[in-house]
Amino acid sequence: MRRPLLHRCWPELAESLPYLGLGEAPTPVRPLAGLGCRGTVWVKDESGYGHGGWGGNKVRKLEWLLPEARRRGARTVLTVGGIGTNWGLAAALYARELGLDVALGLIDHPVDEHVRAQLRRLRASGATLHFLHTRTRLVLAAPWLFARHTRGLTPPYYLPAGGSSALGTLGYVECALELAAQVADGLLPEPGWIVTAVGSGGTAAGLALGLRLAGLRTRVLGVVVNDTLRLDGATLTRLAGRSLALLRERGAEVTGGGPGASDVAVEYGWLGAGYAYPTVEGAVARTRAGAEAGLELEQTYTAKAFAALLELDTAGRFEGEPVVFLNTFGPR
Ligand SMILES: *Cc1c(COP(=O)(O)O)cnc(C)c1O
Repeated sequence: MRRPLLHRCWPELAESLPYLGLGEAPTPVRPLAGLGCRGTVWVKDESGYGHGGWGGNKVRKLEWLLPEARRRGARTVLTVGGIGTNWGLAAALYARELGLDVALGLIDHPVDEHVRAQLRRLRASGATLHFLHTRTRLVLAAPWLFARHTRGLTPPYYLPAGGSSALGTLGYVECALELAAQVADGLLPEPGWIVTAVGSGGTAAGLALGLRLAGLRTRVLGVVVNDTLRLDGATLTRLAGRSLALLRERGAEVTGGGPGASDVAVEYGWLGAGYAYPTVEGAVARTRAGAEAGLELEQTYTAKAFAALLELDTAGRFEGEPVVFLNTFGPR
């Protein structure tokens, strides 16, 4: 089986931090021509990552989370999300391969065709779905959910929304190490920035930590698309710090500290009315990405992040430096 870069860099993690490869690495990088941007825009395309019925950025988190669930002897993974959750779907599809059950606590958000299709996939995934509608009801139902999904004396392995625990975040540390190797191989120049949507924070935090560990000076620009969680720069660097602490707890001799405030910029101007509400800027960016760059985006995450990239490029924010857009969306 493929060894992750984290195990190659810190062989002492091989036993203590189990890994299960679920996709083919490295994911491709390519320049996005035709958008008329000031600097060069590249895409690192995570859409094809994963072998099951769903791809995208949640798969890399599950590569660390699912073996940990098994290591703990859990039979069920309990997690939460919106009714169109890409995370819950990926968790359900990949957990089943390991013989783990998945239970999902779901809360409401605007419904469109994509969400309806997603709900059909969730229903077919074999996960147990609990429709709790609001965050308050979800929190109140938590003790019952834990009891309901305890098998024998073993409680379910709980994962936060989006899989953004300290462990799940390692998926994007791995991705950043991969990007650094692609830079070293001359496939792209060292980027000034990598732009990603921020839904639960693990992707941005993991990238920031991985870039720091790899010694790149690339900064992360996170475009916040979720107003139901606290997602500011301090939250992201704290999560990165927790992932770094976890690497050390598991025995990695990592020198240096985690990312600081200057390594991560957070943008709030592209959220619109809230999580999963479409925006006009997003719709325009989505059309342009498809027509001019052959990139398929969706409205909740990637369209908003790409809209931010286009507008910030026009405003000169990237100072002509190469920018990488992380394509996190993986429909199948
Ligand atoms: C979950 C998700 C994100 C956000 O990633 P986080 O690690 O939760 O911040 C971005 N894009 C897509 C398509 C997603 O499903």
